[in-house]
Amino acid sequence: MKKLGIYIHVPFCRAKCLYCDFCSHPPRNGEKTEYVEALKRQIASYRERFCGYTADAVYFGGGTPTLLSSDQLGGILDALRASITVSEDAEITSECNPATVDRTALTKLRAAGINRLSIGAQSFNDDELCALGRLHNAANVTSTFDDARAAGFDNISLDLMYGIPRQTRDSWQATLDAAIALSPEHISAYGLRVEQGTPFGTMGDSLVLPDENLTAQMYLDATERLEQAGIYQYEISNFACRGRESRHNIKYWKCDEYVGFGVAAHSYFDGERYAAPTDIDSFVSGKFIDEQSVARVDEHEAEVEFVMLAMRLRDGLRCEEYRKRFGIDPAEKYTPRFAPYVVSGHVVADERGYRFTREGMLVSNYILSDVLDL
Ligand code: SF4
Repeated sequence: MKKLGIYIHVPFCRAKCLYCDFCSHPPRNGEKTEYVEALKRQIASYRERFCGYTADAVYFGGGTPTLLSSDQLGGILDALRASITVSEDAEITSECNPATVDRTALTKLRAAGINRLSIGAQSFNDDELCALGRLHNAANVTSTFDDARAAGFDNISLDLMYGIPRQTRDSWQATLDAAIALSPEHISAYGLRVEQGTPFGTMGDSLVLPDENLTAQMYLDATERLEQAGIYQYEISNFACRGRESRHNIKYWKCDEYVGFGVAAHSYFDGERYAAPTDIDSFVSGKFIDEQSVARVDEHEAEVEFVMLAMRLRDGLRCEEYRKRFGIDPAEKYTPRFAPYVVSGHVVADERGYRFTREGMLVSNYILSDVLDL
């Protein structure tokens, strides 16, 4: 049986955060029910194509999946199990916004089969949360975390953000310390990106952000402080206790197959990449694929993507895995290309392969676009 990752997009949020360009909106009356039914139809349509596959990672992302009831999320999982074997030890994650769920709801979620929670904390500083337009405060993060533990979740991730308007190095370190004090199994730490089409994207100079040097320092602070706490860095932006790395995320970085369900969800399945439409009305009426998005992945594209994503991981590009995938040794092509960055201390090259140093991870985009001719 081949292993497969499943992503399920829930495009509902109570309100939009000021920086967010994800596909989500406040639900209209009856929209959640209609959407869940459409999701179940889409999942059922894959039954035959899933023959020979086992799902070992399922991820409810959004949006705010916990705006659906535990019955609705459980119903989607039941529909999935009717179409594909979900392995007994599957990692089944739901993203969760603080203050959208209480202990009772989390207990039901756990009983419905969800065994990992990813809590969108972002910061433990109330002024920063307010600046981001988040609907919760720091105390809500802590209480949601405690409720999740009490509900039986023994695998919890916290999302944190640096580069927030007016954030200081001290306040970022305080956020890291507050997160560490909760003893989560996993932490994601992303730098804020200002996207076009968001309220932040229209604010121009009135948006006062930490400068490049300060955000770089914040990134290094995260890697050092989290590693000291035993939460090791396994990817550019992701940290985990040993054995608690996100199986779902690793599938993306290893270019393994996954199928996305729901509006705007992307898939990489059977040699093709494709996406669902972003318009919820089209989706609910049964248009599950945006035909324009369907593309067969050719060998060159697959190779570039494999190298680019593997280099995000701390283990980097492994020669053995590359050989297994493409039938040739990567050394002839990549040793000369990485050589200047080995000299500058940004890349380590040895018999296992190539990987970024901590300083290299800071400028990984620049190095990869050079090495891969992007
Ligand atoms: S909660 Fe997440 S998905 Fe929803 S608006 Fe905020 S950042 Fe976007």
